[in-house]
Amino acid sequence: MHKQLLEKYKCVPGKRFAYNSASGIITYVPKDLGKVRGNMALLHEIAHAKLGHKTYKYDLELLKMEEDAWNEVKNDSKKYTLLIDEEHIEECLSTYREWISKRSSCPKCKFFGEQMNNQVFYCKSCETEWKVNNRKDKRVMRKIIKHNS
Ligand SMILES: [Zn+2]
Ligand SMILES: [Zn+2]
Repeated sequence: MHKQLLEKYKCVPGKRFAYNSASGIITYVPKDLGKVRGNMALLHEIAHAKLGHKTYKYDLELLKMEEDAWNEVKNDSKKYTLLIDEEHIEECLSTYREWISKRSSCPKCKFFGEQMNNQVFYCKSCETEWKVNNRKDKRVMRKIIKHNS
C-alpha cells in the first residue's frame, strides 16, 4: 500500500516527515513506514499536498490547515486501510492550540491579542505590541516591542 502512495505523490526518503509547498515534495522516514505513527505522518504530509496547502501568515490559518489535513488523514486511512491512532491526532491539534494561545496572550495583561503579521501581536486592551519567536518546536518567547507606560 505504501508503495502506491509513495509513487502517487512526489515522495523522497529523508530524516523527517515533511511537505515542501514550494516544490510539492514530501519527505518521509523509510524505517518508520509500517508503524502506526509513521503511516499517520506520511498520510498527514500527503494531505497537505492534496489540499494544496501553502505557507501561512496567521496562526489561525495554520491551525485550520492542520485540522483539515488530519480530517483528510482519517478519510484516507479508511480508503487505504491503514491503522491510525485518533488520540494522537487530538494530541497534535491540542499542542497547536496551546502554542497559538500562548503566542496570542498579552504579556502585560493576558488579554487575547490580535495577530498583526506572522510574528507580531497587538493587545487592544492595553495597547502592548509583542513579537514572538517562530519555532514551533521551541518554547514560546514573547518580546514586548511597544507599550504604554
Ligand atoms: Zn501538518
Ligand atoms: Zn494587554
